Amino acid sequence: MTLLIDRYGRVARDLRISVTDRCDLRCTYCMPEDGLDWIAPDQQLSFEEILKLSQVLVDLGIRSVRLTGGEPLMRPHLDQLVAGLSQLGLEDLSLTTNGTTLARHAKSLATAGLDRVNISLDSLNAHRFAEMTRRDALCKVLEGITAAQEAGLTPVKVNCVMIAGTNEDEILAFVQFARRTDCDVRFIENMPLGAGNTWNSQKVLSSAEILRRIDAAYPLVGMSRGSEPAASYSFVDGSPGRVGVISSVTEPFCEQCDRLRLTSDGFLRTCLFAHTETDLRTPLRAGASPEELAELICSAVALKGPGHAIGQPEFEQPVRLMSRIGG
Ligand code: SAM
Ligand code: SF4
Repeated sequence: MTLLIDRYGRVARDLRISVTDRCDLRCTYCMPEDGLDWIAPDQQLSFEEILKLSQVLVDLGIRSVRLTGGEPLMRPHLDQLVAGLSQLGLEDLSLTTNGTTLARHAKSLATAGLDRVNISLDSLNAHRFAEMTRRDALCKVLEGITAAQEAGLTPVKVNCVMIAGTNEDEILAFVQFARRTDCDVRFIENMPLGAGNTWNSQKVLSSAEILRRIDAAYPLVGMSRGSEPAASYSFVDGSPGRVGVISSVTEPFCEQCDRLRLTSDGFLRTCLFAHTETDLRTPLRAGASPEELAELICSAVALKGPGHAIGQPEFEQPVRLMSRIGG
């Protein structure tokens, strides 16, 4: 039986769980220099609460979970949550991290049952990395990538947000990195979800242009996509590594979207760009039964909108920023 189905026939199978809105970096396209007013600890879901909601969602058809934030590794004892989630019979349990502290957590996360990691890295140049994240931490992230591979958290996917005019001259350096380290490097189009409404379309480098530049230097072969937002490619010359593009702005994949998001303060969101969200924390803390929670979740999913309208005159950035939603 399909329970998490919306008006357009899309079925939700993938859940992003944000475990904190805090972060040790300050990526310019995501967070202001001084950080944000963080969600108070008592407003944040406990691991026990996250596991209760996850069980309800898995019973409704969720098959894969990705932990995110903010920076998820800032949440103490994250491996305990991973251990709990790993008992739910998921097909895939992963983590999106900026990687700064991954070197010291990779082994315990793998032991707890984490399958793999996505690591965000927007520059391979230490000076530019520090400019883009407002922190000098490139070496730590590179150590984190190595540690993740050694711990078997593979395939390691490296997520690189391309900002036109800022890091686009590093596309081929990232491709060489993918080939050298046998990682999947995925180039992500810059989306209007950061603080201060500073996004504009001039800062978006299209995936089509990124692929054109890569293919001219390293000819590519398309791989099958499934329900993945990334279009992935391997290399004609048989080199290790893969590259991908996530074209959220220029070629949105809303029609195939199978994703739900649970924020760290317990709200269910059916889209990154939604203007509404469903409070699950209040009923959960008031003692709602799994059946009552399931009903709330199914009603929210049924009302999922058709997609976002980035670039259209009617587009409005959601009030909740990316770091508070969980990217
Ligand atoms: N802190 C972790 C990290 O950076 O991987 C997890 C949370 S972060 C919000 C998740 C992903 O969202 C990262 O890959 C980040 O680069 C991406 N992201 C943040 N703001 C974005 C934006 N405005 N456009 C596109 N991607 C963005
Ligand atoms: Fe932190 Fe990730 Fe946002 Fe960068 S993108 S500021 S690492 S939450």
